[in-house]
Amino acid sequence: MPDATPEHTLLTPGPTPIHPRAMQALTRPMLGHMDPEVFALNREIQADLRVMYGTEESTFTALLAGTGSLGMEAGFANLVEAGDEVLVCANGSFGRRMAEMAARYGARVRLVTAPLGEAINPDDVAAHLDGARMVAVVHGETSTGVLNPVPEIARLVRQSGALLTVDAVTTAGMEPFHMAEWGVDYAYTGAQKCLSAPPGLAPVAISERAFARFAARRAPTPLWYCDFEGLRDYWDDHSYHHTVPVNLHYALHAALRAALDEGLENRQRRVQEVGAAIQTALAPLGFTPYVRRPEDRLPTVLALRLPEGFDDTGVRTALRERHISVTGGLGPTAGLIWRLGLMGETARPAPYLTLMHALEDILGERGLAGRFQDALAPVPA
Ligand code: PLP
Repeated sequence: MPDATPEHTLLTPGPTPIHPRAMQALTRPMLGHMDPEVFALNREIQADLRVMYGTEESTFTALLAGTGSLGMEAGFANLVEAGDEVLVCANGSFGRRMAEMAARYGARVRLVTAPLGEAINPDDVAAHLDGARMVAVVHGETSTGVLNPVPEIARLVRQSGALLTVDAVTTAGMEPFHMAEWGVDYAYTGAQKCLSAPPGLAPVAISERAFARFAARRAPTPLWYCDFEGLRDYWDDHSYHHTVPVNLHYALHAALRAALDEGLENRQRRVQEVGAAIQTALAPLGFTPYVRRPEDRLPTVLALRLPEGFDDTGVRTALRERHISVTGGLGPTAGLIWRLGLMGETARPAPYLTLMHALEDILGERGLAGRFQDALAPVPA
């Protein structure tokens, strides 16, 4: 292993490059997890998460000491009991992961699916809602680049009395997310996605309705580590539950502040502008949007169908040799698509300009970088 890792251009759909302010925060001296300064920091994180998720003033927010999958698991572990009917919208790998987790916590899982590359149809949710205690949906399905219609699904779920769990891993902090307005009960993300903080934390938001369901459990959750009450003990009442990764809290705090300072709307605009310029630059080569309906396209994971005869493995290997990481398809879309990340610090012109120059070189194509730059509105580098 060389001492100095060369600068790497990370264009994957997560993790994203660590924000410079988060990187700097990581170097702060260690403090104990029960230190008053850490509790003050945690309070600021909780307040900023309420803004990011668009919650009520009183909504409980916290960080779980694990990745996005722990956020997913904690929701099922605390809010599902054996025999509960849980309706899972599964139109990709992460929806299917939700279904598997719900089943492991004893749920009777009903699936609502959609063809690959298509969004969940709210009518299908409506048709299967009867008797469901919870509905779970991935807002932005990373495996296919599909945005599911959470506001429409939430409206239906609200009328039914079921709880709504939303995976906001590819959306919160970058795309519109309005937990209170939509009526979401449990939302989670991963620090390494739209916030560009290091992996290892899952920011969560838990509604009062979810807490009421939790309080009515017949038995404690089997997942002691993320017991909602235990979280509250530490985050709100400042009593020891487990040792939180304080240095990751510093970094996430800095990254979250940077996101809110920039403004969530400015971040959405940045995603749109860089995404549109990538498509303009690559279209003449034969790259086309994989998701057919424009309204179903997830802006933060640009899924592009590869041109006929394109050497996916060869080109991505050549990019990797130039220290550029691009992610291909998953399972049935392997060799068929690229999934270009536009979350956090990846949604900037500079890393994609690097990609365009490298592709010019590898493919012997002229004009890619120029087309990309011409297509960009003045976006800060
Ligand atoms: N949900 C979605 C939509 C994801 O994209 C991912 C990871 O890519 C996860 C959940 C799981 O997150 P993690 O890999 O941080 O555990």
